[in-house]
Amino acid sequence: MRKEDIKPIIVLQEIDQEISRINRRLGILAKEREELERKLESLEKELQTLLKEKEELEGKERVLKERIEEEEELLNRVEEKMYMVRKDIEYKTLLKEKSKHEDNVLKLSYELDEIREKIERLKEEIKDRVPKIEKDMKETKEELEDLIEEEKIAKNKLQELLKERKLREQEVDISLLKFYEEARQRFGENVIVSIEGGVCSGCGMKIPDVLFAKILKEDSIERCPNCGRYIYYRL
Ligand SMILES: [Zn+2]
Repeated sequence: MRKEDIKPIIVLQEIDQEISRINRRLGILAKEREELERKLESLEKELQTLLKEKEELEGKERVLKERIEEEEELLNRVEEKMYMVRKDIEYKTLLKEKSKHEDNVLKLSYELDEIREKIERLKEEIKDRVPKIEKDMKETKEELEDLIEEEKIAKNKLQELLKERKLREQEVDISLLKFYEEARQRFGENVIVSIEGGVCSGCGMKIPDVLFAKILKEDSIERCPNCGRYIYYRL
């Protein structure tokens, strides 16, 4: 293979390497983005849970207060009636009723105290946790924005490279292009590699002296006896 033929392929190879690099980076960015989105979602959920819990407790507090008022109202009515009854039996019935409403008020007040304690504890938690969640959300959103921006730039760059690759492809002899594409299936990103310090930069093996001497003398492209990649000394 002549060195002149190989140059356009090396250009193509460099573009392909850059395309692979960007695709790898896009893969990493996509994963990071998913992670950040999940984090944001769970922070949002935590925030909503705290606020919803508070709302529910306050709802229960309202209901209990209403029920206590109702019981107190009933209690008042019974007490008023007690002033007016004459018969002992009626009085006893009212007394029982009175005691029932008193028990209810007591029971409900106890429940109300419990709910209010819970609300106080929750308010403390909200006071402590919400600013942290909001700060974390803000930072996560900023990170996400940066990441999306980087993704956008990388995607644009990728489009440019793909366009350039198409142009460059036209400069390469069709049979060489076929050879390159096939070799790429086998060797991956590095098909045609340089000899650096007497070593194949594709696999890292030292090039035998005889072969190296031949490459130097004929200024040719040969194949690495170890990995089979195409090796050149200097372009
Ligand atoms: Zn090699």
